[in-house]
Amino acid sequence: MKTTHRCTVLARRHLTPRTVRLTVGGPSLVGLVPRPAQDIEMLLTDARGSRVKRRYTIRHARPQVGEWDIDAVLHPGGGPGSTWAASAEPGSPVEFAGPRGKLRPGPGDGHLFVGDEASLPAIAALTEALPAGQEATAVVETESPADRVPIAAGRVRWLERGGRPPGDPQALLAVVAEEIPVGRFGQVYVLAEAGAARAVRELVHSMGVRPDHVFAKGYWTADRRPAVTSRNPM
Ligand SMILES: Cc1cc2nc3c(=O)[nH]c(=O)nc-3n(C[C@H](O)[C@H](O)[C@H](O)COP(=O)(O)OP(=O)(O)OC[C@H]3O[C@@H](n4cnc5c(N)ncnc54)[C@H](O)[C@@H]3O)c2cc1C
Repeated sequence: MKTTHRCTVLARRHLTPRTVRLTVGGPSLVGLVPRPAQDIEMLLTDARGSRVKRRYTIRHARPQVGEWDIDAVLHPGGGPGSTWAASAEPGSPVEFAGPRGKLRPGPGDGHLFVGDEASLPAIAALTEALPAGQEATAVVETESPADRVPIAAGRVRWLERGGRPPGDPQALLAVVAEEIPVGRFGQVYVLAEAGAARAVRELVHSMGVRPDHVFAKGYWTADRRPAVTSRNPM
């Protein structure tokens, strides 16, 4: 059964010009220890007054005091999630379910992470949590260099969108095609726009990575349809 947490925004600060870190807290979070990159399902109200859900990664948890940090990207023309993040202030009430999410880094010592601004918090959390000595490569596309945050991967290929629409997979596909032959990737994680995640997953399969070693998930949809999830067991 999903637990709903009724919490309060405790702090807000900009990590980048387009990303805000919101610290949320409440008694029901005390003692909860989420796994790296687990997320919350935020319960929000859209412009028509309907209840909607949006997911955000738990970037840090402080179980002793019942606080979680989430890093939310503010999208031009975004929906209820972006609107909430743009206006949430210390003292704002916030309701969400979690922790949720089944992604766990698989065995093997070579990990390739592919994503964008929305999955940067998850990629940062997952790379930080890898056991010592395991190698990670990240391929991440952002609108501009100002959107970047540190990632604990030995090799990071940052891509700049440069006027292409968010969710266009062309640059990710080109760089992933360069990386697959040079790395030893036991596990590949594609956390991106739903169509882009599908396209990268297909490319990675076609280049010989075993399907059960690829985790692909749509983190958002460019056309507002419900998010598509594709999970191959690892
Ligand atoms: C497991 C999981 C964890 C996530 N963690 C995070 C996180 O930590 N931080 C975070 O910022 N996001 C995260 N996301 C992505 C976030 O849930 C989506 O971006 C969500 O769609 C934003 O909701 P919205 O209401 O602003 O926009 P929606 O109503 O869903 O979409 C409206 C429009 O906004 C635009 N839009 C929405 N999202 C994006 C985007 N990512 N990039 C560009 N344009 C967009 C599109 O034009 C879209 O048509 C996560 C998603 C999942 C599934």
